[in-house]
Amino acid sequence: MRIIVIGCGVVGSFVGYFLKKHGIDVTCISRWKKFPHVSLIQSIMQKFEEDIEMAHRSRIIYEEVSRELNVDQCISRVHSYTIISYKSLDKVNYLSELWRRYGISIRFVDEKDLKKMSFKVYDNELVFEGYPDYLVRIDKIVRSLWRELNVIRGEARLRLRDNGVVVTTERGNIFTGDYIVVACGAYTRSLLRDVNVKLPLVPYKCQAGLFVLKTDRSDYILYDYVNRVYVRPADNVMINLVNRASPRRKFMISGNGNSPPLEPDEKEKSVDDYFKREVTERLRRRYDYVKYVTGRADFCDTTPDARPLIAVIGNLVVVSGFNGYGVEIGPAVAKAVAKIVLGDKLDEYEKRYLSSRFGEIKDVGKLPEVEAHEL
Ligand SMILES: Cc1cc2nc3c(=O)[nH]c(=O)nc-3n(C[C@H](O)[C@H](O)[C@H](O)COP(=O)(O)OP(=O)(O)OC[C@H]3O[C@@H](n4cnc5c(N)ncnc54)[C@H](O)[C@@H]3O)c2cc1C
Repeated sequence: MRIIVIGCGVVGSFVGYFLKKHGIDVTCISRWKKFPHVSLIQSIMQKFEEDIEMAHRSRIIYEEVSRELNVDQCISRVHSYTIISYKSLDKVNYLSELWRRYGISIRFVDEKDLKKMSFKVYDNELVFEGYPDYLVRIDKIVRSLWRELNVIRGEARLRLRDNGVVVTTERGNIFTGDYIVVACGAYTRSLLRDVNVKLPLVPYKCQAGLFVLKTDRSDYILYDYVNRVYVRPADNVMINLVNRASPRRKFMISGNGNSPPLEPDEKEKSVDDYFKREVTERLRRRYDYVKYVTGRADFCDTTPDARPLIAVIGNLVVVSGFNGYGVEIGPAVAKAVAKIVLGDKLDEYEKRYLSSRFGEIKDVGKLPEVEAHEL
């Protein structure tokens, strides 16, 4: 059996790795995507049961793969704080039972402790602390997977031939395979157009900024579901040194997740002014001092229910639509894709990602306002 994987970001790299471990002849072709040299969030505190399970499995996969490939210090445990309004309390009580089963302990922060928080909390709001939450250095892991897979660098395209779909590259090479796995993130939709395949996927721009905040600590994640903004540590060596030296002003990363649909374009990778303004404003409700320093923009894609899809169409296997949580659940969904290719049965959780859940829907319509990993 010969498998071609196009697109080796978070998901495609893991699909390639699982297949290679099974002794499959796998060829990976991808443009390089530069991931930031800081950790991204890998939280098990998800909203959907299958996402909780997939995030848990992904965390175990990260630990196993980093051991196998000798990737140092790629997962860290952190405390997270979640701000909700009172009306979300029932939902959180229900979810916290599920999270507990996965070893996450939840504690509502009382009035006395609230005074010690590094951020402001208002009357109609509740805060709970979750531990452990996780951060992952995805740049280190993807780099190691690329080395292991000997990824061919370059742009690939799909073409229709009599016996199915083939892959062509800029250099004019043609690759054929029993299966072609397409894991091109925000670029998936445009690749599929060339072979007349339409799936309910839509790309959009996703941005994050480095901010200076007035806060005593910089070692926590804050999920602010009232203001719809998150804050996470910026764990690069230089920043850590500065953070340690400045007692009350720390560099932290923040973002808001939602953006209007936009076809991915390398020229569009600067951070928008509206993003800087909007996130700064939201952060000012929590912190006395907020200053935007720099930022990063890239592209993600999503689906009508903001959860990823796996679609099998002839010899094509498409896996995309991870929006803002591909690092959180991507490795476990990649394992499900590898199982399909190997002819193994999916379990009940994995089946929930199949595109058949959308029936005939081919358009996303209005972008979901809340991503699947947000409460
Ligand atoms: C600023 C920002 C912050 C984020 N923070 C988090 C976070 O904290 N936690 C989290 O879980 N997620 C986060 N995400 C989302 C996460 O990065 C995505 O969900 C994830 O990258 C999706 O994985 P993927 O493999 O589907 O796509 P990608 O990782 O985008 O990989 C697609 C790959 O395909 C390649 N490719 C595309 N077209 C072609 C082609 N024609 N030929 C060859 N190769 C091609 C690309 O170059 C890329 O390497 C963040 C995203 C952004 C932009």
